Amino acid sequence: MTLKMGKHRQLVAQSEIRNMTLECAKVGGVNLAQGVCDLPVPDEVVAGAEEAMRSGFNTYTRYDGLPRFREAIAAKQKRYTGMDVDPDSQVVVSAGATGAFYATCLALLDEGDEVLVFEPYYGYHVTTLASLGVTSVPVVLEPPEWAFTADDLERAITKKTRAILVNTPSNPAGKVFTREELTVIAACAEAHDLFVFTDEIYEHFVFDGREHISPATLPGMARRTITISGLSKVFAVTGWRLGYAVCDPEWALAIGHFSDLVYICAPAPLQVGAARGLERLGPEYYQGISDDHQLKRDLFCQTLEDIGLTPHRPQGAYYTLADVTALPGRTARERAMFLLEKTGVACVPGSAFYSGPTGETLARFCFAKQMDALEDAMTRLRGLQL
Ligand code: GLN
Repeated sequence: MTLKMGKHRQLVAQSEIRNMTLECAKVGGVNLAQGVCDLPVPDEVVAGAEEAMRSGFNTYTRYDGLPRFREAIAAKQKRYTGMDVDPDSQVVVSAGATGAFYATCLALLDEGDEVLVFEPYYGYHVTTLASLGVTSVPVVLEPPEWAFTADDLERAITKKTRAILVNTPSNPAGKVFTREELTVIAACAEAHDLFVFTDEIYEHFVFDGREHISPATLPGMARRTITISGLSKVFAVTGWRLGYAVCDPEWALAIGHFSDLVYICAPAPLQVGAARGLERLGPEYYQGISDDHQLKRDLFCQTLEDIGLTPHRPQGAYYTLADVTALPGRTARERAMFLLEKTGVACVPGSAFYSGPTGETLARFCFAKQMDALEDAMTRLRGLQL
């Protein structure tokens, strides 16, 4: 027999996020590896989904989502970013932001294309691109501000470049791109006629009075930007798989066709629950969660600092990258496994977010836990003898 795998198989392995989650479960540890927010789901959201199930929203929705959900998403875009979005032609609901991103790449990219990706990056972005034969070209962000220059972008551009991927607030660095930085990105996208794909799944989690800026709102950016986000993080429903892309109707139609091809639609009753949440929860809800994450960031980063694993203080999202070179081991994975073994706290090796050796010195911790779980993790970490 000469049966063999497809050529992209070798590019897609189990992610380190999932690896460490499994390792954590084996020892019954505290999982700060996977970016799961385990806060309670808002009552409105649960009640909306429950009612929808009972009242018959259990069959396929339109390929691009229920009208009510698309309308709620468009209204939310208007409220938070000022963008005018037509819910009927510019919103594509998909299976999570991950599904929306995959459908976007399927619709708009070709094998052999290149996409600029800021490093440290979210591994699923890079692997999704790789699975389609698209090369990620890293633009390295320099701590502490995770800075980059227009030259860095220019140097990364080739004839094959088709898009720039912007994840703001970013996973894993927690970088919140400033208006100035987005202006540099917009100028580069215009000069080279590129798409900008965004991942704004952490849009509501910005700290210390910072502001989330949606790249599509910059002058001249509306047509070339695919704005991607979802409800997983903000409603703590990572398992519901509700995300969306907002963009020009021409791209939306194509993205919708690919999303239909792979997923048919996102879960119907859950779309109703999320729509109700978007309709009824006010700014105090979003601010409340962001403040809660900020408080946890401060507590958790202080703990890391005290035990000698110096953290990068995130500006948004809910992860911190910490310097783990004080832990024994040659690689980030060995260090993360040492930490799990000694403390029962799981993190993700930094190598999952870097193409080069820098990642071997770092690990990512998620602090979006219920306070008792986070306190347990902090107590365990403080017991570490280095
Ligand atoms: N986005 C989340 C993270 O970075 C979860 C993704 C996942 O479970 N693969 O951890």
